[in-house]
Formats: sequence, C-alpha cells, structure tokens
Amino acid sequence: MNNASTDKASPQGASVRKILRSSRIVTPNGIVDGAIEIRGEKIAGVFDSSDAQFASLARESIIDYGNFYLLPGVIDGHVHVNQPGRTEWEGGKTATAAAAAGGITTLVDMPLNSSPVTVNALSLQMKQSSYEQAPFVDMGFHGGAIGTLRGTIPLSHSEIAMQVDALVDAGVLGVKVFLCDSGLDEFPAITERELRTVMPVLAERGVPLWVHAELVPLDWESPKSIHQYREWSSARSKGIELTAIEWMIKLCRETGCAVHIVHLANAEALSRIHHAKTEGLPFTIETCPHYLYFCDEHIPDDDPRYKCCPPIRDLSNRELLWQGLELGEIDTLGSDHSPCPPEMKFLDTKNFASAWGGISSLQLMLPVVWHAAMLRDFSVTRLTECMSSSPAKLLGLSHSKGRIAAGMDADIVAFDPDFQWVVQGDELYHRHKVTPYEDAELKGKVFETWLRGKSIYRDGSLTDMPFGNFVRRSGNLDDE
Ligand SMILES: [Zn+2]
Repeated sequence: MNNASTDKASPQGASVRKILRSSRIVTPNGIVDGAIEIRGEKIAGVFDSSDAQFASLARESIIDYGNFYLLPGVIDGHVHVNQPGRTEWEGGKTATAAAAAGGITTLVDMPLNSSPVTVNALSLQMKQSSYEQAPFVDMGFHGGAIGTLRGTIPLSHSEIAMQVDALVDAGVLGVKVFLCDSGLDEFPAITERELRTVMPVLAERGVPLWVHAELVPLDWESPKSIHQYREWSSARSKGIELTAIEWMIKLCRETGCAVHIVHLANAEALSRIHHAKTEGLPFTIETCPHYLYFCDEHIPDDDPRYKCCPPIRDLSNRELLWQGLELGEIDTLGSDHSPCPPEMKFLDTKNFASAWGGISSLQLMLPVVWHAAMLRDFSVTRLTECMSSSPAKLLGLSHSKGRIAAGMDADIVAFDPDFQWVVQGDELYHRHKVTPYEDAELKGKVFETWLRGKSIYRDGSLTDMPFGNFVRRSGNLDDE
C-alpha cells in the first residue's frame, strides 16, 4: 500500500485531481486493473491499465491501493438513526461516523424510532433541522404511513393521500409501512383501507412502498418468558411472513405500486417472489446481514442480542437466502441497524420476551457480508450490485450514486480482502457497543472511505470534518 499523495489540505474544487490505483476496481462492466480519476467531487474516468490514457495519468496524484478492492460506496437504505427524540438509542453523529467506518457513503433513515415519527412533511422538516452539524456521510430519509383508525379522529382518505403526497414533494426516498405492531405506539400498523389509499398515490408518483411484511394474527400474544432463540422463532412463525408477502404481491398487482419487502428472513417466500418478478410486477426484496450470517441452531441460549423481527431462521434457510441473492430474487442488502440502550436488551435477566427486537450492525454490514460471501465463492460484482447499484436505483439516486463510472459521485471504498480481525463492540462508532457480532472472526475490512472525492475514514480514524449532504429522491422508478 503506497500513498503518494493524500492531498488532505487541498481546497475542494473541480480542479482538484486524484488518481486511485488498484488491480481490482469493481465497475458495472466487471473488475478492472487500472485507475479511477477523480476531479472535485466526481469520477472523471475509469481507465484500464492497458489504456493509452492510463499511461498519461499524472503520477504525482496517484494513491496506489495495490490489490485492495475499490468498491462503489455502500448505500444502506435501512437504518434507524433515532434522531430526534431517541438519540439515547443512537443519533446522527454516531450513526454516520459508524457508516463512514463501515464503507457506507449514503444511508437512509427510517421514519421510526425518532420522535416525532416521520409521517408528514412537518416531522421530516423537524428531523432535518435537528442536525446541528453535517452528517459524516450523505443521508436521505424515508417517510412513513401509519394506521390512523385507532386515533380519536381518524384521517380521511384525502388527508392520508395529501400527507403521503407532501412527503414525496419534500424528497423522501421511500414510504415505510408496518403490517404488524412496530413496537412503537406512535407508529401503528397500517390497515388495508389505508394501504389502498396510499399505494395508488405512490404508484402515481413512482415511489416504492417499503413494507415490514409480517401479518401477525390479532389474537397473537408475545410469550412472557423466552430464553432459547428457537422458542422465539417458533412463536413468531415463518407463516406470518409468508402470508404478508403473498398479500403484498396481490396489492402490488392491483394498484401498480412498487413494493419493496424489507428484511426478508423466510426463504420459503422466494418461489412466490420469483413468480411475481416473472409476471413483471414491481416487486423487490431486501435482506439483512444477520439473516445471511447467523442461523438459529447456533445462537446461544439466554442471549437477547440476537432478537429481531422476523427472527433468524435455520441453516438451510440461510443458504437458500444466499441462493436467492445470487439469482436476483433478492435485490438489495440493508443493515436494518436498530439499536437501543443496552438495558433494553435485558442482558441481565436474559429474557428475550422483554428485549427490544433490533440488531446493531451498521458499521459491520459490509465486512460481515463480505466475509460470509467469500466463504461461498460469491461474486464480488453481484455483491456490489446488491449493496450499491440496486439500492441506488430503488432510492432514486442512480443518477449520481451506486457505481464506479464517469460522472458519478466519487463515493469509493478501499477494501482490504485479506485483513483478519475480531469484532470488538468497544471499537465501533455505534453509540452503544452491544452487538451479536461481538468476537466474530472476519476476513476483510474497510481500509478507506471516500465521499464525493474526499477521504472521510482511513485505517481506523475519521479523517475529515463532517460534510455529508441530505439527498432527495430524483425522478421516479420508471425513469431509472
Ligand atoms: Zn427496520
């Protein structure tokens, strides 16, 4: 690893030029041995080492990464930052610092568990103005649509439609709904009547609906005491997710609204998803690192750090998820980073039933998935699609993000594929250090992260003052 010029003191303008050299640059056209030319915030060109232009690149501007991979910055469309209102759970500063260290150059914040929840244009404005300093990475926001019938004054159809329309006007990248209890009183499950109001509006605007797909029976009661993971996963059965996905395929077909199922855990749904895609429905799927890394047979008893909804399933299910990712039945990866204060994980009583259902993983998503992928000889280019170009497309950002190509933002990760390390929660930038990945032995680590042409993290340290932007959805899905 030879660093000929770090250029940290230079002013950031279109004339500032840097050349990142590597034998493994992951581009939309495959892996290139060559160099990326950066001018200002943008990628000016990608040159193969056999190109005549490569030979003429200014030697003094070259930063040589040797055989490290240069990947497009990861776009994590599913993060619970919890600001404002619950910054004791996480917060923008720690979340975006963790993202930078984890190779994530754009993250998208969920409408919960902030307070207020982001369900109208005013709450979005409050969320954005709660950032007194810029985030460490670029950042967008999802809006939410919630059930209103339980309130004393239910919203009318037209009021619900207006709220969603206003959120889209304000630049949200997607609209999130829960089909079941979200765990947060302010974000109730949406009803069918409300979905049938929201979905046509989103279809018209070309914005996808992000769905937590579990249809939990009304009389379902969470068990009062659970100490084994399998008790949790059988209480929250696979059928709950399958039924919800089947229902959403039907509503997608009827309304024409693009649907993105978040955190797919149950691989039995893949055949239904395959048929929906073959039919040409705008139906896409996200899964998360914890479903690809863990399996319930190996989760120790009395350890609520692993609790999430839907639950982690068994080993054969996990391998089918990997297959779904390879075949394109699963489109994107998102961390679903959903931390909480350690006391809410009940590590003392070890009772799953009372613990918050969310896994803390933001900084670890790329190295965890990379490690697990390499054990399976999984394609690096496919992995990059799932973590960068596909989320960019879904989020309406692909005009500037998600690929290493001329004209795109210079959001780049230098990744050392051979670095062996052991996860220590204390070393992560997350506000709270509790994570089920503690002591995980991984091969592969982020060495450096570039955001719009500037290094923001390098070899264990943040390297610049935060200058992340808020990003808006640009264009609708049909334009992509
Ligand atoms: Zn989530």
